[in-house]
Amino acid sequence: MISSILRHFMRRGLGVFARRRGGEREISIAMERNGEMEDKSGVGGGVEDAYGEDSATEEQLITPWTISVASGYTLLRDPNHNKGLAFSEKERDAHYLRGLLPPQISSQELQERKMMHNIRQYEVPLHKYIAMVDLQERNARLFYKLLIDNVEELLPVVYTPTVGEACQKYGSIFKRPQGLFISLKDKGRILEVLKNWPEKNIQVIVVTDGERILGLGDLGCQGMGIPVGKLSLYTALGGVRPSACLPITIDVGTNNEKLLNDEFYIGLRQRRATGQEYAELLNEFMSAVKQNYGEKVLVQFEDFANHNAFVLLEKYRKTHLVFNDDIQGTASVVLAGLIAAQKLLDGTLADHTFLFLGAGEAGTGIAELIALQISKETNAPVEEARKKIWLVDSKGLVVSSRMKSLQHFKQPWAHKHEPVTSLLDSVMAIKPTVLIGTSGVGKTFTKEVIETMASLNEKPLILALSNPTSQSECTAEEAYTWSGGRAVFASGSPFDPVECTGKVFVPGQANNAYIFPGFGLGVIMSGTIRVHDDLLLAASEALASQVTDENYEKGLIYPPFSNIRKISAQIAAKVAAKSYELGLASRLPRPKDLVKHAESCMYSPIYRHYL
Ligand code: NAD
Repeated sequence: MISSILRHFMRRGLGVFARRRGGEREISIAMERNGEMEDKSGVGGGVEDAYGEDSATEEQLITPWTISVASGYTLLRDPNHNKGLAFSEKERDAHYLRGLLPPQISSQELQERKMMHNIRQYEVPLHKYIAMVDLQERNARLFYKLLIDNVEELLPVVYTPTVGEACQKYGSIFKRPQGLFISLKDKGRILEVLKNWPEKNIQVIVVTDGERILGLGDLGCQGMGIPVGKLSLYTALGGVRPSACLPITIDVGTNNEKLLNDEFYIGLRQRRATGQEYAELLNEFMSAVKQNYGEKVLVQFEDFANHNAFVLLEKYRKTHLVFNDDIQGTASVVLAGLIAAQKLLDGTLADHTFLFLGAGEAGTGIAELIALQISKETNAPVEEARKKIWLVDSKGLVVSSRMKSLQHFKQPWAHKHEPVTSLLDSVMAIKPTVLIGTSGVGKTFTKEVIETMASLNEKPLILALSNPTSQSECTAEEAYTWSGGRAVFASGSPFDPVECTGKVFVPGQANNAYIFPGFGLGVIMSGTIRVHDDLLLAASEALASQVTDENYEKGLIYPPFSNIRKISAQIAAKVAAKSYELGLASRLPRPKDLVKHAESCMYSPIYRHYL
C-alpha cells in the first residue's frame, strides 16, 4: 500500500521519504510550490503535527494536510480496510494493532451474525438504517457482506421505504457527509469540485437534484440519501466496486417551505433555480463529468421531477452515457414482468390492450418500452404499437382532443376517443387486458374496477405499482379476492402471500433493484458509450427468463430476490452482448462467456489478507 502511495506522489513530481515511528508509518513529502521546496514532514514541524492537528492560535492560518498509510489506530478507523476483530495475529503484529483490539479473533461470518442480531433488536426501521450507515462508515466490507447475504431483509432498510424517512431527517441522522454536494455556488468550478472527490476511477454516478424524492416531494439537498442508497445497491446487487461509485446531489435550492424555514437545513436556503440558470448548471455538470471521467462513466439520474427528468434524458442521451432509473429502469423491470406473464396467459404482448392510471415518468416510460417491444415482435412501426396502449391522468383518459394542453411526453399517447373522466369508465370503454397503476395515488383500483377487469378477462393482469404501500392502487389480497383468484398480480411495494379460493398466491414485486445493478454492470464491463433502448429490452428479456416453472406455479412473474447476484450477472451478460452487437461496446475483444465474465468482474466483500 505504501508503494502505491509513493508512486502516486512521485508521479506528481513530489519527493517522498517514508519512515517508521512507533506504530505509525509516516511519509514526508517535499512539495514544490511556486518553485520553492516546502518540507511537510509532519513530525512536529511548525504548528502542525503528524495528523494535521495544530497548536496554532485561532488567528493563525494553517494548512489542514494529512498523509499517512493506514496502520495501527488509523487502520481501525479506515472503513475500506478495517476488519475489526477479524485481524489475524500476524496482521495485528505487522500493522501495529497490538493492544488496540481485545485479544479475541472473530471470523467475518461471526461478525456478520453479531451485526444481524444487533440490527434485528431494533424495532424502528430508521434505527436499523442508522445502524447500517454506521457500519458502512466503520467497516465497508462487512456492510456489503451483510447486504448481499441478507438482501431481502435489508433492502427495505437501506433503500425504500426507510431511506425516504432518512432523507426527511437527514440533518439529524448523518454524522459524516456522504457523497459529493454541488450547488449553485459552485457554478464555474464544478470540475474543481469533482476533483476533490478522493477516488479517481469512477464508473457510476448516481445524481439527484432532490426535487421528487420517492413519493415525498422536494427534499432539496437532503435527497443525498437516495444516490448513496442506490449506489450501495449497485455494489451489493450488481457487484460494482464501491470505490467506482460516486453519489452526487445537485443543490439548486428547494421549494419546500418547511426546509427553508428550518434552521438546521443543510442546503441552499433559496427557492429552486429554474429555466436557463438550472440548465446552465446541469450543462456544466455534465461537461465536467465527461472531462474528468471520460466517455464511459454511467450517469444515472434519480428522483428528478418529471418536468426536468424527460428533458435531461432526451438532451444528454446523445452525448453521454446516461440512464434514468425512474423512467427507463422502471420500464425495463415492468416489461420483464409482462413478458414473463405471457407464459401464464398463453399469449404475446401484441395480444394485449394496456391501460395505465398515471401518465408520468413511470407510466410513459413503461408504455414506450412496451410499444418498442411489440414493434420488434410484430415488425410493425412503433406508432402502430402505441395504439394498443392507453393512459389515464388526473384529468381522465389521454385523448387527442386534449392534445394542446398535454405535456409533450403524454402526446404520443393521445389517441382518438371521446373524453372519459373516470378510471372505471375508461376500463369499460377501452376494455384493457392489462391494468397498470403508476399515479402515486392509493386505493384507486376499487372493487368495481377489479371486478370489471375480471368480467372482461379470464386472467386480468393487474400491476399496482405506486409506492409506498399506503399508495398502492390496491392490495394483493384485494386483487386476488375481487377477481375470484384469477388475477395475475404484481406490485411496486411488497405484499405477503395471500390465500384465496383454496390456493396460496405469492405476489411479485416489480422492484427496480432487479434491473439497474445488472444493467449498470453490463454497461460498465463492456465499456458501453451510449444507452440504447435495445439494451433495456435485453435486460427485460434476461430478467423474464429467470422466472422458473416453480415460480409460475405460485403466481409469480418475477424470480425470488434472494438470487439477485446471479440474476444481475445474467442481465449484465445480455446487456453487454447487445451492446457488442450494436457496436456500442468499447472494451475489446469481447469476452467469449459473458456470464462468467460478469461474475468475475463482481466485487466480493470477503476480507482480504494484509501482508
Ligand atoms: P410522476 O409524478 O412522474 O407521475 C404521476 C402521474 O400520475 C402524473 O401523470 C399525474 O398526472 C398522474 N396522477 C396524479 N394523480 C392522479 C389521479 N388521481 N388519477 C390519475 N392520474 C393521476 O411520478 P412517477 O415517477 O411516474 O411515479 C408514479 C408512481 O409510480 C409512484 O408512486 C412511484 O412510487 C411508482 N413507481 C413504481 C416503480 C416500481 O414499482 N418499480 C417504479 C417507479 C415508480
